[in-house]
Amino acid sequence: MKHSLPDAVLISEVGPRDGLQSVKTIMATGDKLKWIDALYAAGLREIEVASFVPAALLPQMADAAAVVKHALTLPGLTVMALVPNVRGAQAALQAGVHKLTIPVSASEAHSLANVRKTREQMVAEVRSIVALRNEVASAVRIEAGMSTAFGCTIQGEVREDDVVWLAEQVIAAGVDESGLSDTTGMANPAQVRRLFNRVRAAIGERTGAAHMHNTRGLGLANCLAAYDVGVRTFDASLGGLGGCPYAPGASGNVVTEDLAFMFEAMGVRTGIDLEKLIAARAPLMAGLPGEPIYGMTPEAGLPKGYVQGAAHV
Ligand code: ZN
Repeated sequence: MKHSLPDAVLISEVGPRDGLQSVKTIMATGDKLKWIDALYAAGLREIEVASFVPAALLPQMADAAAVVKHALTLPGLTVMALVPNVRGAQAALQAGVHKLTIPVSASEAHSLANVRKTREQMVAEVRSIVALRNEVASAVRIEAGMSTAFGCTIQGEVREDDVVWLAEQVIAAGVDESGLSDTTGMANPAQVRRLFNRVRAAIGERTGAAHMHNTRGLGLANCLAAYDVGVRTFDASLGGLGGCPYAPGASGNVVTEDLAFMFEAMGVRTGIDLEKLIAARAPLMAGLPGEPIYGMTPEAGLPKGYVQGAAHV
């Protein structure tokens, strides 16, 4: 019997950064390392482990360098960190990360509120980070994560032309890829298809990850829409850590367990062992006692007769 090789996707785990920086409790460094080890054991091969920002602003990330140092001991893991400026990039490169992600806002209002810079000023910052990378660590990859690409809680609608323009700007500034983030959970699948198609038409294979939120329950639908138009890297957070304060009971980030289950059940390879992934919730819960975590698949359990990888043999 002849059948074509099914696609594979990369699920990029953002919980240790995106998740932990949105909860008030500070997870102890030892607990973070145990959690990262469990994520790695489940097969995740790209993890955003920290953000390099002043500890006064985000005490949750004060141990970023120590966390990176440990993550670098895991063979084959792409160790990623978020950096909002050159100073953060310096620290992250010094720590030895493999990949930097820089947040840029498609919404001018969000950009001013979040990094106190206009979009043009942020593009200039991106250019400086790229120059630094080229000088001191040319093998490190840089991604721009375009926040509020699908809508903004401050300014409302974000014009698609602005998103395409900004993607072109950051690529011209030298980043390796630009992904699109639904920071505020406002995206719908039709919009996701349209916008990823438009961005791909503008920057081609430099189109990066889909970072979707589940604020209104559309996280998985939006990931599938992005998959349908060629996206193969998806950000997600174990247990959906990083809850949205505007939607009590709903998770913020797409839940890694549900996303991995969706793809594996479809026969799309993720490289993830679902049972081990669900087991990775234990060190997360141990490190953040009392913090709500989400996920339909872990609650329901794997379906009867489910065999990992069976769909693609
Ligand atoms: Zn997020």
